[in-house]
Amino acid sequence: MSIIKAEYIWIDGTEPTPLLRSKTRMLEANIIEKVLGAITGVAALPTWGFDGSSTNQATGDDSDCQLFPVFACRDPLRGGDNLLVLCEVVTHGGTPHPTNTRRAATAIEERLKAEECWYGMEQEYTMMKDNYPLGFPEGGYPGPQGPYYCGVGAEYVFGREIVEEHMDACIKAGLKMSGINAEVMPGQWEFQIGPAGITEVGDHMYMARYLLGRIAETYGVDISYDAKPAKGDWNGAGCHTNFSTKAMREDGGLKVIHEYCEKLGEPDRIARHLAAYGAGLEERLTGAHETASFREFKYGVSDRGASIRIPMATDLDGKGYLEDRRPCANIDPYVVATLLAEAVES
Ligand code: ADP
Ligand code: MN
Ligand code: MN
Ligand code: MN
Repeated sequence: MSIIKAEYIWIDGTEPTPLLRSKTRMLEANIIEKVLGAITGVAALPTWGFDGSSTNQATGDDSDCQLFPVFACRDPLRGGDNLLVLCEVVTHGGTPHPTNTRRAATAIEERLKAEECWYGMEQEYTMMKDNYPLGFPEGGYPGPQGPYYCGVGAEYVFGREIVEEHMDACIKAGLKMSGINAEVMPGQWEFQIGPAGITEVGDHMYMARYLLGRIAETYGVDISYDAKPAKGDWNGAGCHTNFSTKAMREDGGLKVIHEYCEKLGEPDRIARHLAAYGAGLEERLTGAHETASFREFKYGVSDRGASIRIPMATDLDGKGYLEDRRPCANIDPYVVATLLAEAVES
């Protein structure tokens, strides 16, 4: 009997920012046709369990949590017919665990099917070596920001081999990655996932984060999603979230976008969004470094100092999408996707 390795991946209960966890299970190789086939899909995979008391998801006297496979793809790192399996965490009898934010995303997705919500998330991150961003000299600082963004050459670019390997892995896994770029601070990079649906953007984002963590591990590099990894005159790390509905993408869409932006500006809604837009938000959204202060809300065309940017092309075409620039790099993509969808619904 030939076997494959299935890597079961889940989101833990670490606060304020959850971590990814994973463990490996051998399965009979013939499962691959069912999992990647159109008929059975991910439901062909067995459920599994783990010790929730070691992941901040349960107490020792009632420690068992369950893993429900929800999204699977080929494992580009192990290759062959091996699989990566993203799981939801559930407790007794299939109740979603409090750390399970995916269920809310699938629920609103079901209700908003006709709206055809699309997301494009720009995941920024910082490569860390010995607790310093890659490219920072030991005990000191590199030259000021300017030449690093989309830079070329060893003086300005650090960690490209990891980025290239990660990009190839995501493509091989079939993830909806749309691009990468070097960012404003040395050692800081971005990859984009999208356009993708409400649940899909989170599934693909977590898979991409998992692959990035695993690849960087082999280089002795740690991936930080800290919203402000270097204090002082250095850009923070965000996860700009581009969003559109079918109505926004069609003729007359610009008006729909403006109405939607007004809705995002409702005071109680602003508060709800900011509370879920990642730890360290106040440190990052200062009003400097291409951000709007978290204390104000504004939207504008082509404005990288606004909370919401309407891209120039969208304004010119009269239809397209908008960019919520507030989410931090450490956001839960399911939560942000759900919040933006809620503003369509209500
Ligand atoms: P920026 O100019 O802000 O750096 P990026 O090119 O990094 O933007 O990211 C833009 C993201 O928006 C990409 O992931 C892209 O796939 C996504 N996107 C493009 N069109 C739409 C749309 N109509 N709705 C939602 N997302 C979109
Ligand atoms: Mn970008
Ligand atoms: Mn960016
Ligand atoms: Mn952006």
